[in-house]
Order: sequence, then structure tokens, then C-alpha cells
Amino acid sequence: MIPRTDSLCQTPSWQEAIANAFVSPEALVDYLELDRSLLPAAHAAARRFGLRVPREFVDRMERGNPQDPLLLQVLPIGAELELRHGFVLDPVGDLAATPAAGILHKYHGRALLITTGACAVNCRYCFRRHFPYQDLSAHLDRWQSALDYLGRDTSIKEVILSGGDPMMITDSRLAELLRALEAIPHLTRLRIHTRMPIIVPQRVTEDILDELRRTRLNTVIVVHCNHARELTRQVCQALKKLEACGARLLNQSVLLKGVNDELETQIQLCESLFDAHVLPYYLHLLDPVQGAAHFNVNKKEAQLLCRLLRQQLPGYLVPQLVYEKAGERSKIPVTL
Ligand SMILES: *Cc1c(COP(=O)(O)O)cnc(C)c1O
Ligand code: SF4
Repeated sequence: MIPRTDSLCQTPSWQEAIANAFVSPEALVDYLELDRSLLPAAHAAARRFGLRVPREFVDRMERGNPQDPLLLQVLPIGAELELRHGFVLDPVGDLAATPAAGILHKYHGRALLITTGACAVNCRYCFRRHFPYQDLSAHLDRWQSALDYLGRDTSIKEVILSGGDPMMITDSRLAELLRALEAIPHLTRLRIHTRMPIIVPQRVTEDILDELRRTRLNTVIVVHCNHARELTRQVCQALKKLEACGARLLNQSVLLKGVNDELETQIQLCESLFDAHVLPYYLHLLDPVQGAAHFNVNKKEAQLLCRLLRQQLPGYLVPQLVYEKAGERSKIPVTL
């Protein structure tokens, strides 16, 4: 094999990385040297929710291993087609919490702006896999009604950019959105919920860093990383750059059977996050979304795991185990 050197192998821009993502099960299965017998089920499941994963993320997977914890998060499988009691289309009541196009407002003092419906990766367990983004996401012209809503409700101190993934919009549109948010006097905090720095670290551009240095809003970036192997050297460098620009970095992850439901895996995840200047924030129980039941870890097992985690790690490295329930006024902490 030709050794990788920087001159031979330039990192593609983030847009190229998104454009060149794997979207076909064949291409992914062949690239990872997996058994082609996986394909019929992958195709059937991908018809419900498409496969999408950038090569940057695939290159962290182990070739020939169908149980790779990163692969399990993105490969469509037959189990997704099984209907399971209690696993539904809109498990967290998002459709009932939309007071203006592109806004989800469920909790006091903070409102979520659906910046875009797009994501760099399709995570099989995602609670939004059935979400009708086309109708609700705030497009260029449609941020206005979301901004009007935020401007009217003076109880909102924090705006949460979410989606989809808010870092899927261009730097100039992001800058434009931040300017509009900064003009709302009662907003003091900006939170960005994004998986992009983990999936495609080159998304952390100089322009984004400049915006973070410049904004008057006190900024928190909540990344989404489920396994220590997601944290490559490039990812850690990108995270440290974000932090160096004054943003507080937190991580949320989802507890997933076969991916990160072992004690040693969680310890490695929390410690690796800290090395990258990120504090664990939430560990979510799976939202009971149709098609994701095979990822479910029940509450008892999750409690035990977190109790043991508390014994192994300092308190500040233990994420809070939570779940979301439609109609509640906050995420619900699971007592250990
Ligand atoms: C999860 C969520 C939040 C943020 O909750 P925190 O506990 O503040 O992290 C805000 N709004 C909506 C609609 C949410 O789903
Ligand atoms: S990046 Fe987040 S919103 Fe997008 S598919 Fe994955 S879990 Fe869902």
C-alpha cells in the first residue's frame, strides 16, 4: 500500500466530505470488506431511512468486523423493520411543541431552533428518523418566523441551534443567523447541538472560530459522540480549537446496545472526551422510536452501568443518565 502522506492525500473540504459520503450499502459493505449477505436487509431498511456516512467516519471502523461499534450506528439492518410495542414515530412529542415554523419550545428559558433538517450522517437510532423536516425546518426565508418568536418571548435566554445538524449550513449563513440572534436583547446564551466536529472535523473552519471569538453570546457547544474510537487526533484538535475560542464543550451520547453499553467502553469514552477538553453532559436512554428497538438498553441495566461508572470515575466525568418524555418540562434524570 502507498503510505499516506500529506502531499498525496489532502484532506477534502467539509463540503466535499459531505458530498462524497457513502449512501449505498454496496459501497460501504465492499469498502469495509464485509460479507455481501448483509445487503438485502440493508437495502430494505435503507428504503425507510437512507444510509449516509462520510468516509472520514468510516475510516475509523475496523475492516471485516460487522459488529464494529461505529458501523452499528450507521448500517441499516433487518431488525429496523420489526415493529415493537411502544416504539413509535414521534416518541418525544415534537410535533406538539412547535409554536412557530422551525421552533421547538418545551422547556423554560430555552428554545430550540431547527436550523436545517440535514445531517452529515444518518444515525440508525435517531429519534428524528421519521420527523417531517421538510415542513418544519426553517429555510433561508423561514428563519424569520422563528426569529420573530424568539424576539417576542422575553423569557427565552438561550437559543439552541439544532436540527438536523446546524453545522450543515454554510459559514456565511451561520454568521447571518448569529447576527440576527445577537440582535435579540434578552438572548444571553447560544447553544449549538452538533455532531459535525466528530463526524467531519474539518467542518471546524477558521470562519466558525472567528464567529465564536466575536459573538457576545455565551456559547456552549454540545457534541454527540458515542464511542472513544470516534475521537481521532483530528477530531480532538478540532474540539480543542473550538474550546480555545471561548466555547464550553459538552458531550451528549445515547446508550446503545452493542455500541457503548459496557462499563469499560463508557470509561474510555468519558476519559477520552476529557482529554479533548469536553465534559460528559447527558447519557440518553434510547428514545423509543420505531425501527431502533434493537439498540434498547433497559432502565435497570442503565442504572447499574452508571452506578459502576460513578465508582470508577470522578463525579465530573460521569454524564447524567436521562430520558425524554412527551409533555414533560425537562429531560428526566434517572436516579441511580
Ligand atoms: C433537550 C431539549 C432542550 C435542552 O434541554 P437541557 O436539559 O437544557 O439540555 C431544550 N429544548 C428541547 C425542545 C429539547 O428537546
Ligand atoms: S447527527 Fe444527530 S440528528 Fe443527525 S441523524 Fe445523527 S443523531 Fe440524528
